[in-house]
Amino acid sequence: MNFHILTLFPEMVESALMTSITGRAAAEGKISIRAVNIRDFSNDRHKKVDDYPYGGGAGMLMQAQPVFDAYESVMAGIPDISRKRVIYVTPQGRPFTQSMAEELAENEHLILLCGHYEGVDERVLEEIVTDNISIGDYVLTGGELAAMVIVDAVARLVPNVLHNGDSAHTESFHGNLLEYPQYSRPEEWRGRHVPDVLLSGNQREIDRWRRREAEARTAERRPDLYERYLALQACEEFLLKDKLHHMDMIELIRRGRARLLARQGEEILLEDTESHMLFHTMPGADRKEHAENSVCNRPGILCAAHRICLHQEAFVPLLAGMGYRQEAVCLQSVCTRKEQLPIRGLYGADGQPVNGLSVRFDGVCATAFLDGEEAGSVRLQRDGSIGELEVLPQYRRRRVASALETCLCNQLIQKGMTPYGRIPEENEAALALQESLGLHIARGRVYVMS
Ligand code: SAM
Repeated sequence: MNFHILTLFPEMVESALMTSITGRAAAEGKISIRAVNIRDFSNDRHKKVDDYPYGGGAGMLMQAQPVFDAYESVMAGIPDISRKRVIYVTPQGRPFTQSMAEELAENEHLILLCGHYEGVDERVLEEIVTDNISIGDYVLTGGELAAMVIVDAVARLVPNVLHNGDSAHTESFHGNLLEYPQYSRPEEWRGRHVPDVLLSGNQREIDRWRRREAEARTAERRPDLYERYLALQACEEFLLKDKLHHMDMIELIRRGRARLLARQGEEILLEDTESHMLFHTMPGADRKEHAENSVCNRPGILCAAHRICLHQEAFVPLLAGMGYRQEAVCLQSVCTRKEQLPIRGLYGADGQPVNGLSVRFDGVCATAFLDGEEAGSVRLQRDGSIGELEVLPQYRRRRVASALETCLCNQLIQKGMTPYGRIPEENEAALALQESLGLHIARGRVYVMS
């Protein structure tokens, strides 16, 4: 992840961001932070970058030309511009949130423009900016503090920037809960004791206590968040009535990445905050009138960029009528075990690797090697399902697929997740593989449209 900060005060940004965790991550090459001095690009003899606003009014305005040239200098060094965002930090932007930080962390380059004085000439903003972001409903003297807030929040989500990889996923806002209270040594301080349960060594009890505390704290301090949390809990309870068929939606909620877009009786529409895919269900819906009264018809609720996974066929014609195309009809396969699966094909009875087969996992993709050659792979998809299982033809029938799938399932089980995949219904070999590994196939079909 590369951060480029366009500013009139590069030393301010650098001195703050090049210390502590972001500084260490930059020194280790996990992120790069570059402050670009807009003044260096002024064509004015005195390096002036501001002027009076047309029409009069208080204060000065940053001119378009130096800002644009500073931006162009950054762009000249970015060969692939597909994964970049240009953010103008402004009190007029969308309020910055943790889910925005998560979304921004998926880009390769973030260019942040810091305004000063009364702001920036509108024309250059129109020309280069992809996102307007505010850090709160107040007005700062300049954009540097806002840019630093965004860089800090995004950088800590970049893999390996935090040394404890899980901590970003147990923190405040994940799953609409604030974090539980924490304690360190000593056990007693000024007559205050660490809660007994935290000293008990019983992890189940500790997890339960933390959950209760997180709920109580959220209810008290952020009733708005708590309301969202309760609404999703109610959805989960409802979806559990047909667990296998709805495992994708249940996991979205449990992994803390679901946004409830609409609920109307038994109809639920969720958005995955990471992939932005939508998930829809209305158990039992089978008639045209169900589709006609659907929440999907609400203006602005579906947008052209969304892929959607429908859990009932009755809604396929409705979406087709809106211009959606059917990608696949699938069955969901679910691994309901809480313990690790025996890894097939990798180890012999003595626990030693056999067949010269090994599997490497990089956090997203499990890759199999046979005698040192890449033989196949399977991925954790952006929407959280397991997919894209592929074994090169010359390595088939050597249990590579089983090894890959069980390895990836175990990685997820270890993190307390329930692994699941969507298998096209005509792919009999893939369905047979799932069953041979002990996964359950849901009876209902799901329809993926885009
Ligand atoms: N005249 C502008 C307005 O009313 O919208 C405010 C300009 S402010 C004094 C100067 C710069 O500080 C802005 O251009 C922006 O880059 C930055 N800034 C101020 N408040 C901010 C906030 N709440 N979030 C993000 N950036 C902010």
